[in-house]
Amino acid sequence: MTILILGSGGREHTFAWKISQSPKCINLYVAPGNSGTAEIATNVPIGVTDFQSIKTLVLEKEIDMVVVGPEDPLVQGVHDFFLQDEALKHVAVIGPEKAAAELEGSKEFAKEFLYRHNIPTAAYQSFDASSVEAGYAFLETLKAPYVLKADGLAAGKGVLILNDLEEAKAELKSMLVDAKFGAASTKVVIEEFLDGIELSCFVLTDGKNYKILPTAKDYKRIGEGDTGLNTGGMGAVSPVPFATEEFLNKIEERIVKPTISGLQKDNLPYKGFVFIGLIKVGDDPKVIEYNVRMGDPETEVVLPRLKNDLVEIFQAIANQTLDTIEIEIDERAATTVMLVSGGYPEAYEKGKVITGVNDITDSIAFHAGAKLEDDTIVTSGGRVMAITSYGDTYQEAIKKSYQSIDKLHFDKMNYRKDIGFDL
Ligand code: ATP
Repeated sequence: MTILILGSGGREHTFAWKISQSPKCINLYVAPGNSGTAEIATNVPIGVTDFQSIKTLVLEKEIDMVVVGPEDPLVQGVHDFFLQDEALKHVAVIGPEKAAAELEGSKEFAKEFLYRHNIPTAAYQSFDASSVEAGYAFLETLKAPYVLKADGLAAGKGVLILNDLEEAKAELKSMLVDAKFGAASTKVVIEEFLDGIELSCFVLTDGKNYKILPTAKDYKRIGEGDTGLNTGGMGAVSPVPFATEEFLNKIEERIVKPTISGLQKDNLPYKGFVFIGLIKVGDDPKVIEYNVRMGDPETEVVLPRLKNDLVEIFQAIANQTLDTIEIEIDERAATTVMLVSGGYPEAYEKGKVITGVNDITDSIAFHAGAKLEDDTIVTSGGRVMAITSYGDTYQEAIKKSYQSIDKLHFDKMNYRKDIGFDL
């Protein structure tokens, strides 16, 4: 098969790494890709939402399958674009159609879905510019901290958690009236605060059947002890030690099953990954959010633990025969530590030469914001590289990741030194 992956992060390098191991994959393209994908696939300099250029590439290279990494093309309807075009509709697209991608594209849509299907989640109400006063009144019924969420996509920055009621009201007004997050905050969801520990559950679905992948926990903040600004993710661990079998059963019965049947009942066509962001409140799982694609850096620990041929799974998703697949998981733990540019998630410099990548033997370096410049790997983004390791325990795996990181260098390299330490 000839396969195209859309995206350029550590997640997409991990997809390329896993897909390239499949005997079914003959040609592999990544658009736009990075220095890591360049080693195992052909990078094509096309943006992930440039549907016309993607079409030209797919026809020219006779691509049979498109694996969509990030959410933007899905929310903009890349799957529908393929289905609606006679010349493209035979191509298997891994990722939900636009209507279902709204589960990530609109937090209000996701909350309505969760409520409609009786899936445990925080109580909420949503507001727009005409109902700011009602928003204030709702805030007054809640206890601090106050959770305000811009309805639309805001690159992970649209959620505010505030301790002070007056500040929460001011932020609500700024989001709704002053368009703090642009069109993304035309509506705002105000939610009950849930106190607990977070984890993520990843589900594959063909729209009818589902398979659950290993759980993972990611580390979002820039600083040790989970302090400082939010980032795209600084590291991840799989499996999550506190996710016992009993707890996983609750997730499957109360959340995964009603989610998949809800998609069918609501006629939301879904062939791809469902990423369920969860919080453990007491002994019970509640849904924080849905994402309609894999997480990054969770992919860098989940896919390395999947023993199956990923292309075979994707074919089963496309053909709606996922029930015939038996998922096999590597018993070992996997951890990843993200190397970031100094200054990230605020301003940082690019173009720093990365050395030592070839000296890594005990870990896998998944490239993210890294590109090739005359055969030299240089930084090109905030999150630069995810260093993944296996271990019989997650402690052993994390030790390996840190030992491998000692061999790597670029100017102002930064990373968290406490991944997994809280578990
Ligand atoms: P991201 O893109 O970073 O995954 P997002 O912008 O899509 O996030 P959410 O995942 O809904 O938004 O929220 C971001 C973070 O805010 C969550 O990971 C969680 O830590 C916190 N959070 C969200 N909702 C709640 C809640 N009801 N109670 C407590 N914390 C919450």
